[in-house]
Amino acid sequence: MSAVNNVLIVGGGIGGLCAAIALRRKGIEVDLIELKSKWTVYGVGIIQQSNVVREMAKLGVLDGYLDAAYAFEDVAIYGPGGQQLARIAGQRLAGPQYPANVGISRLALHKVLSETALGLGAKVRLGLSVETLDDNGQQVDVLFTDGSRGVYDLVVGADGLFSKVRSLVFGDTYTPRFTGQSVWRYNFPRAPQIDHLANYQSAEGNAGLVPLAGDLMYLFLTSHEPSNPWMDPADLAPQMRQRLQGFTGLIGELREQITDSGQVVYKPMEVVFVDEPWHRGRVLLIGDAAHATTPHLGQGAGMAIEDAIVLSEELTRDSSAMSVEAQLQRFMARRFERCKYISDSSVLAGDKEMQHDRSFDRIGLVKQMLARTAEPI
Ligand SMILES: Cc1cc2nc3c(=O)[nH]c(=O)nc-3n(C[C@H](O)[C@H](O)[C@H](O)COP(=O)(O)OP(=O)(O)OC[C@H]3O[C@@H](n4cnc5c(N)ncnc54)[C@H](O)[C@@H]3O)c2cc1C
Repeated sequence: MSAVNNVLIVGGGIGGLCAAIALRRKGIEVDLIELKSKWTVYGVGIIQQSNVVREMAKLGVLDGYLDAAYAFEDVAIYGPGGQQLARIAGQRLAGPQYPANVGISRLALHKVLSETALGLGAKVRLGLSVETLDDNGQQVDVLFTDGSRGVYDLVVGADGLFSKVRSLVFGDTYTPRFTGQSVWRYNFPRAPQIDHLANYQSAEGNAGLVPLAGDLMYLFLTSHEPSNPWMDPADLAPQMRQRLQGFTGLIGELREQITDSGQVVYKPMEVVFVDEPWHRGRVLLIGDAAHATTPHLGQGAGMAIEDAIVLSEELTRDSSAMSVEAQLQRFMARRFERCKYISDSSVLAGDKEMQHDRSFDRIGLVKQMLARTAEPI
């Protein structure tokens, strides 16, 4: 009999949805609340590397997920004109019959995860957040923003970078920090040669092309924006084109097709890392709420997904003999260093870009990250 029989998950993003699926598969009751009243996600894509494909198999969603994704093997790194600097072979961690990596649109990923969570019986309420959390040591009494109440064995804050749960538990000790860089993204029809993740390095910033479907890919660009300027939404296409001036080859050709400012997705990079256990009593943070980092290594969502699965394992392993505190300590022992490595390494890669540090071994870092994330959790 598990010490935790019912869980409130705050936040219906990637981490919250994966936690809902993983916990439901272990027979734990799940209520999930999501702040947005319309449960959508913004429409660009996401890279999911071999460790994530492995975890999707554990979540039992792999086939539906792969149907909605573009599977690929290798990660290549090119110079600004397209000359190949390195090619790193993919690792098929989910089994030889499954691909190493995937690119998937965020919308498609949300559909697979939300339909699975609902199908497994997670109870979802939209347009709702938590007002207060009162942990009496045995359970958490929750006051919701609509005035209703609930009582839970555990509350999981999966509410992202600006987590309300984090502020309820840790006050203002941890607040997001702008790193100095921003990310620009734009969708294109997939070019036939983009059948792998293609990273392009230049002195001004890094760009990349990610296949998302047979007919879709997206271009991302990181840029140094020291003053974190406000960007006029009507001006995003020329601004993105301007920041891609240092590239020739395929990226240079695509640059000239960036004409619709409404299709540019612009995002300043903000990070936060909770540098102590991510739980107090029966309230736990997972995903970006605990460890939001930059996208340089493409592992933020991967870490949120791993958090969700490890949590479900630790809450149900030898559960009758263990206190919730001990279960959460075991969760932390499996998560803290791994997420700290990803957080710190991602921020470091961005810092080195901003410093134009040509001695920095970016390719070595990517190889090291792939080796570390391939290790069992
Ligand atoms: C530009 C960019 C590119 C990225 N690319 C990649 C990539 O290629 N691969 C990768 O693995 N990661 C990538 N990431 C990181 C990844 O997007 C995040 O790590 C991931 O989305 C974290 O998931 P999460 O569920 O923890 O948080 P979120 O995705 O932020 O979800 C949080 C959810 O909680 C809801 N919420 C917020 N506040 C409340 C509240 N008070 N009450 C209730 N609900 C609330 C939100 O509406 C949202 O639905 C990228 C990030 C950025 C910024």
